[in-house]
Amino acid sequence: MQVESRTYDELLRLAPGAVLRDEPMARHTSFGLGGPADLYVEAPNAGSFRAAAELLTSAGVPVKVVGRGTNLLVRSGGIEGAVLSTESAFSTLSERDGRIVVGSGVPLKSFLSFCAEAGWVGLEPLAGIPGSVGGAVFMNAGSYGTFIGDCMETVSVFTPGVGSATVAREDLDLGYRTARLPEGSTVEEASFVLERGDASEVSRRLQEILELKWKGQPVGMRSAGCVFRNPADVRAWQLVDQAGLRGARIGGAVVSDQHTNFILNDRGAAPEDVEELIDLIVTTVRERTGRELVLEVEVVGRRGGARTTQA
Ligand SMILES: Cc1cc2nc3c(=O)[nH]c(=O)nc-3n(C[C@H](O)[C@H](O)[C@H](O)COP(=O)(O)OP(=O)(O)OC[C@H]3O[C@@H](n4cnc5c(N)ncnc54)[C@H](O)[C@@H]3O)c2cc1C
Repeated sequence: MQVESRTYDELLRLAPGAVLRDEPMARHTSFGLGGPADLYVEAPNAGSFRAAAELLTSAGVPVKVVGRGTNLLVRSGGIEGAVLSTESAFSTLSERDGRIVVGSGVPLKSFLSFCAEAGWVGLEPLAGIPGSVGGAVFMNAGSYGTFIGDCMETVSVFTPGVGSATVAREDLDLGYRTARLPEGSTVEEASFVLERGDASEVSRRLQEILELKWKGQPVGMRSAGCVFRNPADVRAWQLVDQAGLRGARIGGAVVSDQHTNFILNDRGAAPEDVEELIDLIVTTVRERTGRELVLEVEVVGRRGGARTTQA
């Protein structure tokens, strides 16, 4: 979509040098896939992020907030409107009054390292999740029975047209890969209360979890992690396996041999290869096991456009 030049000029003033037109989302997703966002904005601080979100919303430009793009499949047609990155805007990490306050753009990995150095205990099972803290809060990311929301106290959000608010953990209705955030809001930061323990023990646990994941997951391959949510009584990878889809391939997209809930961008897949493979898995699992798989990965963007591939 064409963004009015007045809006574009104002954006440039808010985020000098950080407003990109037709920016390939392949550069901003762990799949390494996806067509262009009409605008990609990396606001340098919280104030300019809020002003940019207000400006775009009042100009009728759709806004998609992204962290590190590790749970996204962006179609070849790219994203209509503006993508706002949280990476620079919300990048602080501090300890205040026994609480750890973390900006949403901080990589989860950096937050866990900070905890390990200071001996804060509790979130080690999340080691190896590659997204941002904001992305993790948005979907209550978790691993080995621990969720980021477990030790969270509050979440600060900003909603264009509404303003800033603080949401208490109890009001987030946290569940398996779900958190109820105000409609259209961006997570700016979250506060955590963790127990103090032995720093070297926390580091040892982090390393242990990472090694477990390196054994069980296709490390170093382009993916968005688990494609499907686990039903309550069975792991999604088991259903994919039972359906005989280990190693199934469409174009450059393949079901990992090592972990059948991962689809890999292998040999220069197009997003449509991944999407078709997802459809094939859902249909085949339904036919062969009678179960309905639900997506964990979020598929976004316009259909059509040139098929974008990137090895
Ligand atoms: C190898 C690999 C392993 C993984 N393992 C796990 C795992 O064990 N457990 C797990 O839960 N996930 C896992 N994931 C998935 C992914 O890393 C997590 O879902 C992560 O929390 C997503 O964070 P992100 O910053 O990349 O979000 P993005 O992919 O950028 O965004 C995901 C969604 O969150 C929204 N969002 C992002 N930031 C904000 C914000 N600040 N405010 C409001 N909305 C926001 C976006 O609009 C989008 O809807 C894995 C992924 C990979 C590639």
